[in-house]
Amino acid sequence: MKPHRGRPPGGPGFDEKEGSTMKQAIAGLVRWTGFGAMQRFLKARRGVTIVVYHDPSPETLREHLRWYARRYSFTTLDAVATAMETGRWEDLPPYPLVVTFDDGHRNNTALAPLFREFELRPTIYLCSQVVGTARPYWWKTDAAGAIGVERLKQVPDPERRRLLAEAGNDPDRDGADRQAMTWDEIARMTDVADYGAHTRTHPILLQCDDRRCAEEIGLCRIELEEALGQPCRHFAFPNGDFSEREVEQIRHAGYRTARTIDPGWNDADGDPLRLKAFPVSDDVSVDWLSVQLTGIPAWLRKRKAAATGPGEADAAQWSGAMAKPKSAGV
Ligand SMILES: [Zn+2]
Repeated sequence: MKPHRGRPPGGPGFDEKEGSTMKQAIAGLVRWTGFGAMQRFLKARRGVTIVVYHDPSPETLREHLRWYARRYSFTTLDAVATAMETGRWEDLPPYPLVVTFDDGHRNNTALAPLFREFELRPTIYLCSQVVGTARPYWWKTDAAGAIGVERLKQVPDPERRRLLAEAGNDPDRDGADRQAMTWDEIARMTDVADYGAHTRTHPILLQCDDRRCAEEIGLCRIELEEALGQPCRHFAFPNGDFSEREVEQIRHAGYRTARTIDPGWNDADGDPLRLKAFPVSDDVSVDWLSVQLTGIPAWLRKRKAAATGPGEADAAQWSGAMAKPKSAGV
C-alpha cells in the first residue's frame, strides 16, 4: 500500500489578504446555500465527527464549544470504539462529536474548566517521552524554523534528529522552557479527559525503520499506562502519516482505535484503526470552523498537494489560500 501522508506539505506562499477574502467568500457561500447544515444532517446525524486541535486558547475554544453544543452531542472515543466493536451504533447519541487534542501542549491544562462547563470528555494524545520533560516539540524550535519543517518531515528519521541537533535544538535533550504538560498536570485532568498515545517522540513514522516505528507505537502505550495507571487504547498518527505497516503495528500493540487527519465522518462500517477527523486551526473564527467541518478546506489542501503540473499552479495557489490552516500543528 502506498504510504499515506496526512498533512500535505505547504505550497508556495500565498497572499494573506487574498486568502482571507477567499475565506469570507467561501464562508458566505456555505452559509447562504445551507451546505454546512445539509452536510450535518446527511453525514453527521449518524456518522461520528472527530475534530483535532493542538494548542487553542481557552477564549477561542469556548466559542467553538458553544457552537458545537448547539449542533452536536459530545461523546467519547471509548463510546465510539465500543459501538464499532459491538455493532450497537444506536447507543451513540445523534450528531455524535469527539473532541481531540494532539501532542500534550502545556496550555491544554487551562482548558480543563471548559471541559467541565460543557460536559465533554476529550481525548488528549500524548508523546510519552516529551510530556513530563522540557524536551521541545521539534517542529516548534528555532532549528526547525531555520531548516524548514517540511524538509525535516521528508528526511530519514536519524537525519532529522541530526539536523536539529546540529542546528542547536536536539529533540532528545531538554530545552530552555518546557512546552509540554507535566505528569502532575496530566494526572490532575484525568477526571475530565482521556489520554491517548501519539508516539514517544513524535517522529514522522514513515521515515522510521521498522524497529524504531514499533518502539514509537508500542512503548508509548506501555509508558503512558505505567505513568497514568490506566489503560491507554487510542492512538493518533503524528502529522496524520501512515502506511499498512503502521496500522499493523498499532493492531499488534493492542490499540482499539487510531485517528488520522483524513477529513470525513465515521460510520458503523468504518475502520477503527483509520478513524477520519477534521483538523481545526487553533485560532479559527466560528464562521470558518463551520466551513472546516464541511470538509471543503481539507479537500482543497489535498487537491493542492496533488496539483503538480504547471497548468495547475493557479488552482494550487487558490486552494492553498483558502485551505492552509494558519496555526497548523504536526
Ligand atoms: Zn502531533
